[in-house]
Amino acid sequence: MPIYCYKCTECGKTEEEFFPIDDRKLVIDCPDCGAPAERDLVSERPGRLGSTEAIWPCPCDALGVNPDQCKEAHDDSVRQGVPTDFNSDGNPVFTSLSHKRRYAKTQGYQMDG
Ligand SMILES: [Zn+2]
Repeated sequence: MPIYCYKCTECGKTEEEFFPIDDRKLVIDCPDCGAPAERDLVSERPGRLGSTEAIWPCPCDALGVNPDQCKEAHDDSVRQGVPTDFNSDGNPVFTSLSHKRRYAKTQGYQMDG
């Protein structure tokens, strides 16, 4: 499933969601404040729209694990050939879109693009 990125119009929180292509949404509710979060194409496609340095490394909420399982998840990512660090919130930190795509694949997700 493709990953879609959203940015809250109120608090600025960024959120990533998986949706089947047919169910993709232009606006979701911000999980923090409930305000509308609009599709953020810059985060989705950093390579196509200007500088990548401003966006990567990028922690990804959508692929997060329980913070207690960071070490386990890291060891697992190494075993699968896509070494990935996790931040203290349990979110994987990707250094590039291809890194994110390869990691998502090890978790059974297929990103488009
Ligand atoms: Zn918000």
